[in-house]
Amino acid sequence: MIHFNKPPLTGNEERYVLEAMKSSKISGDGAFTKRCHKWFEERLGCKKALLTTSCTHALEMAALLLDIKEGDEVIMPSYTFVSTANAFVLRGATIVFVDIRPDTLNIDETKIEEAITVKTKVIVPVHYAGVACEMDTIMDIASRHDLFVVEDAAQGMMSSYNGKALGTIGHFGAFSFHETKNYTSAGEGGLLIINDEKFVQRAEIIREKGTNRSLFFRGMVDKYSWVDVGSSYLPNDISAAYLWGGLEMADTINENRLNSWSSYYEKLSFLQNEGFIELPTIPDGCIQNAHMFYFKVKDLEERTALLDAFKKEDIGAVFHYVPLHSAPAGVKYGRFSGVDEFTTKESERLVRLPMYFGLSSDERDAVCDVIKSFYGK
Ligand SMILES: *Cc1c(COP(=O)(O)O)cnc(C)c1O
Repeated sequence: MIHFNKPPLTGNEERYVLEAMKSSKISGDGAFTKRCHKWFEERLGCKKALLTTSCTHALEMAALLLDIKEGDEVIMPSYTFVSTANAFVLRGATIVFVDIRPDTLNIDETKIEEAITVKTKVIVPVHYAGVACEMDTIMDIASRHDLFVVEDAAQGMMSSYNGKALGTIGHFGAFSFHETKNYTSAGEGGLLIINDEKFVQRAEIIREKGTNRSLFFRGMVDKYSWVDVGSSYLPNDISAAYLWGGLEMADTINENRLNSWSSYYEKLSFLQNEGFIELPTIPDGCIQNAHMFYFKVKDLEERTALLDAFKKEDIGAVFHYVPLHSAPAGVKYGRFSGVDEFTTKESERLVRLPMYFGLSSDERDAVCDVIKSFYGK
């Protein structure tokens, strides 16, 4: 049996988790959380990093910080996870879905401008598979129309665009440390990156139940009180301790995944050359993190047959998002701008292969053998 995913476990997590447990400070913003914050601020090069309980919650914080309200419109691809949309729907916004590019499956930056109305407040680029959206164009559109940009970089830790870490280009960046992502907290976790200083103080308040407790702990106010809306978005320190084990090994994990990715690519290239499948594209200027290895087959029927072949061998190859605009809540809370030329079609052709830290070369061979024999090779 070959799993689709295994959460990274590098060895030190156990020690750090025990250390956190014995520290008598296991609630939020303990020693490991602070270590993680510093690592992200230095490594990504951002103004402020705040660990959250999930990427879903980091996105919700961004929506609160931008005061999204009933009637506002938020532009995003339909080919994404539900949380990208839900964070803004919770505040009463209408989601405006824009088609994706067939090469990266990211939002088609050339179709964003026609989706903008007087009600548009935010653009949410989703860096699919940890490969960057065309951020120069998106930031230019946003600045010309006075819009905010929230990067859904859930899959993008360690990836960059023209030398800038994903999540540090828009006004906010949201990352996930769910067990399926490249780096994980104790199963669930996230990160909000704040790139505009003016949001930092309010972000700390919203994350701490709408109180100025963070300022109180730093001795900047002499009592803390309820000052704004908020919720409980900070993770416990045991979660941060698990994450710290992975961050210390971030480069090792990244290289290992990239190595698996390149190996898949090489082994399957001949099938692309012979016209059977399409392999992923990494545009110039994008450095990726091998979050995912996917390829595209002819159509839905062929994909169903191929996934059956994987199932027979007990190999965890899977499809991915069902486009949000065709889901019941997507119909209710959103609309598609323009024509769905690629979103549905490309999503039906996509297959993801097993990918995790420590995937062995024998396992990759077994995966590729299924694909080769499926195409009679
Ligand atoms: C995983 C993921 C999320 C949600 O992350 P959680 O940490 O599970 O809340 C959001 N958006 C995208 C694109 C994701 O891949």
